[in-house]
Amino acid sequence: MKSNAVLAIHGGAGTILRASMAPEVENRYLDALNRILAAGQRILAEGGSALDAVEEAVRLLEDCPLFNAGHGAVFTSAGTHELDASIMDGRSLEAGAVCCVTRVRNPVRAARRVLEKSEHVLFTGEGAEAFAAAQGLEFVDPGYFHTDSRYRQWQLARGEARAMLDHDGATLQANAEARAAANASADSLPHEPIDPNRKYGTVGAVALDAHGHLAAATSTGGITNKQVGRVGDAPLIGAGCYADDATCAVSTTGSGEMFMRMVAAYDVAAQMKYRGVSLSEAATNVVMEQLPRIDGRGGLIAVDAQGNVVLPFNTEGMYRGYARVGEAPVALIYA
Ligand code: ASP
Repeated sequence: MKSNAVLAIHGGAGTILRASMAPEVENRYLDALNRILAAGQRILAEGGSALDAVEEAVRLLEDCPLFNAGHGAVFTSAGTHELDASIMDGRSLEAGAVCCVTRVRNPVRAARRVLEKSEHVLFTGEGAEAFAAAQGLEFVDPGYFHTDSRYRQWQLARGEARAMLDHDGATLQANAEARAAANASADSLPHEPIDPNRKYGTVGAVALDAHGHLAAATSTGGITNKQVGRVGDAPLIGAGCYADDATCAVSTTGSGEMFMRMVAAYDVAAQMKYRGVSLSEAATNVVMEQLPRIDGRGGLIAVDAQGNVVLPFNTEGMYRGYARVGEAPVALIYA
């Protein structure tokens, strides 16, 4: 029997412009996506569960400083890091999530423990960390989450007195560096407008395993310069993450407040369930029609029980890829 097991991942959507991306930076992203896809693909090829594959893919994305989750997370307005993550099992509809954690190395692992070991679904802050500690998960000094590039993004966002999603911060930084390199005045090169609706970064994974089960996981540092205590869509089941074997598995990235208001991840599953439409039609409707109604920008990745994969986004780019068992991984950035 040919397996249609497949894994898809994302590393955030937003203002990712080919013009402001140096080729070696682009290669670094593509290499990371390919490496992480291959690792998750191995789990599925060995008959592992979709749940294990998405947890491992997101753990690796959290450990990679290129992406806004775990090591590489963005800074809050207080110069700290507050991390959110969720995971859902399509077989049982069990789910686990944590938000506002500051010292758990891999928030997705904490989310998985909540799914498996707790009668609750979502833990926040100190309670989430006490739970993770009781589960024996790895803790790190908050300094572990510091990366110089996110720090510079935060400085720029503070200067603009705005909260800023991740990849717009990167574009802004690239422009600032280009200006500095050209030794030009701040006004002599085009300045990327800081549009609060165009700045995203999060990681996620969805998978179908060889046993026909679906799972999804999402993890994020949130948005640069966010207020302390702000929680986005990533740890909210139905908004940033959803999985049901009867329909699909979904992980989102984008302007979290809009994804929350649209219950975006669940809306893909609900459209399949109640309107009887395909995964592709449901996902396209959510990203291209529903979210834009409230200026929601970003994208999602999703897989259905037949192994169909969709990766729609309404921004300039989204770090993304998929890997079918037995085939070479595919990694993409731009539209
Ligand atoms: N959706 C995430 C949040 O609002 C951010 C992102 O995907 O960039 O926290």
